[in-house]
Amino acid sequence: MKKKQFKAESKRLLDLMINSIYTNKDIFLRELISNASDAIDKLSYRSLTDKNIKINDDFKISINIDKDNREITITDNGCGMTETELENNLGTIAQSGTLSFKEENDIKDIDVIGQFGVGFYSAFMVSDKITVETKSYDDKGYMWVSSGADGYSIEEIDKEDIGTKITLHIKEDVEEFKYSDYLDEQKLTEIIKRYSDYIRYPITLNSEDPINSMIPLWKKNKNEIDEKEYNEFYHTKFLDFEDPIKTIHTSVEGMCSYNALLYIPSHTPFDFYNKDYKKGLQLYSNGVLIMDKCEELLPDYFSFIKGLVDSSDLSLNISREILQQDHQVQLIAKNIEKKIKKELEDMLENERETYINFFKAFGMQLKYGVYNNFGMNKDILKDLLLFHSSKQNKLITLKEYIENMDDKQDKIYYACGESISKIDLMPQIEQFKEKEYDVLYLTEYLDEFTIQALMEYEGKNFVNVSSENLLLDEEENKKTKEENEKNKDMLELMKEVVKDNIHEVKFTNRLKSHPVCLTTEGPISIEMEKVMSAMPVDEKIKASAILEINENHPISDKIKQLYKEDKEQLKEYTKVLYAQARLIEGLTLDNPTEISNIICNMISK
Ligand code: ADP
Repeated sequence: MKKKQFKAESKRLLDLMINSIYTNKDIFLRELISNASDAIDKLSYRSLTDKNIKINDDFKISINIDKDNREITITDNGCGMTETELENNLGTIAQSGTLSFKEENDIKDIDVIGQFGVGFYSAFMVSDKITVETKSYDDKGYMWVSSGADGYSIEEIDKEDIGTKITLHIKEDVEEFKYSDYLDEQKLTEIIKRYSDYIRYPITLNSEDPINSMIPLWKKNKNEIDEKEYNEFYHTKFLDFEDPIKTIHTSVEGMCSYNALLYIPSHTPFDFYNKDYKKGLQLYSNGVLIMDKCEELLPDYFSFIKGLVDSSDLSLNISREILQQDHQVQLIAKNIEKKIKKELEDMLENERETYINFFKAFGMQLKYGVYNNFGMNKDILKDLLLFHSSKQNKLITLKEYIENMDDKQDKIYYACGESISKIDLMPQIEQFKEKEYDVLYLTEYLDEFTIQALMEYEGKNFVNVSSENLLLDEEENKKTKEENEKNKDMLELMKEVVKDNIHEVKFTNRLKSHPVCLTTEGPISIEMEKVMSAMPVDEKIKASAILEINENHPISDKIKQLYKEDKEQLKEYTKVLYAQARLIEGLTLDNPTEISNIICNMISK
């Protein structure tokens, strides 16, 4: 017999389970039944591909109460566990991610655990000793025993049937809690009906008659299911303690018939940005699970969707390779994509608040979808995007931008920066405010890439307020052009001073009260340069930047005067002006000491 300690994470979760006073303890049974059902699924699926596995079709989950010995047993004829599996699955909880989620999100409320899929360990909420007798089809029988904190032991046993029997020794009653309730048949029946009714295998309790209806939730009639039931199913199945933002339940008859039950989570799953996160829907063939994460059913930009699809038109032993080309699966995937999109559009239209919450959680995913694959899917997604409008001071769609556009305006203007408030202070924004043009404020790193992938919206081009070719007033532009021509030599001298980073210095009329700004020429903007320089690539991509000086600001006269009287000082001024323009853009200075010395010298004069 091997005596072992639990791995550290498991031990901590275990402690929480053993000592939890407030948690909804009822869920322990749901967890064990769900494991049993999964184990049967696995065995029946394996038997399709491996002819050596002999099964009879009499799958069931039997529960028995032995009041005298304070024991509940849960027996299944599923796949069982080999010695290694037993060790890996019940010796550690690391896979389930519950604990890391709890810590990352700083969840103090212990009750959260009760609503979460905590799995096997939740049995320790009600038991002081758990025995697991199990046999896999390709190993001997083994028994795992644990009384919680002081570890567990594994030993070989004689066990004939494939499957698992779990025996829980129920804790003695304490003042705060009557554990004996779990030895009551009535109470257990209630729990099973409440949480596990849809399980497709018969669940029996102290008798031969199944107490669950065995109709999977997704096959039930929509109007027979209430929201609570949908949500409860979601919690158990997809291990999320929060209710989903939306449930989509559809049933399609025709060329390809299927039922789908899809959920839009209300927050990003804890492992969403983990490289191991896998998108996909569970795939059932006539109620039998054939794949846990069928990627083919979801496009990348909807990878946050949780759910399942059940179709009677799929072959049971379909392989992964075949699945990829399977016409039926492709058809279902197309339909599902349309359905999700339609649901999101409706939400956008009728439940703006909910949509905004959704967008805060998953908007990035949609933007990425627009940008990815050279904008191939942009038309599907463009109307689902939201951006901050300067005029309305809230998130709006591109359609709403166009609808509120001035007749004279023929472009969609946008500005990029770290935050709404910072963009709002950008010198380049001033003239738009004066003209009462709306500007989309983009604050996320993907935003500008998304806009560039879109290229245009309903025939209107997107223009960055910091781009070089922005022409708002023809008359004034002519004047500025002349001014630049007249001062060509001076501007050339100034450019020499900052030529490492700037390819032109010129006067501008785009600024109202601010003295300087940086603009760019070409497809790379300053914001994009910031994003790309943060990426781990050797070659640094630079925006082609222009230092623009407000022709109507007193600083213009000052530099013209210096050009005549003191060229050395003009060079110093140029450095300072350039430094200011960088700081306004949220860029750092390469030479802060030099700039600070120049300024100190100036002000001490
Ligand atoms: P989860 O079900 O979320 O993976 P659990 O802690 O409930 O986490 O179970 C851990 C693992 O132990 C399962 O993934 C499964 O491989 C195995 N397991 C649990 N119960 C059984 C069972 N009745 N039969 C076979 N394997 C089981």
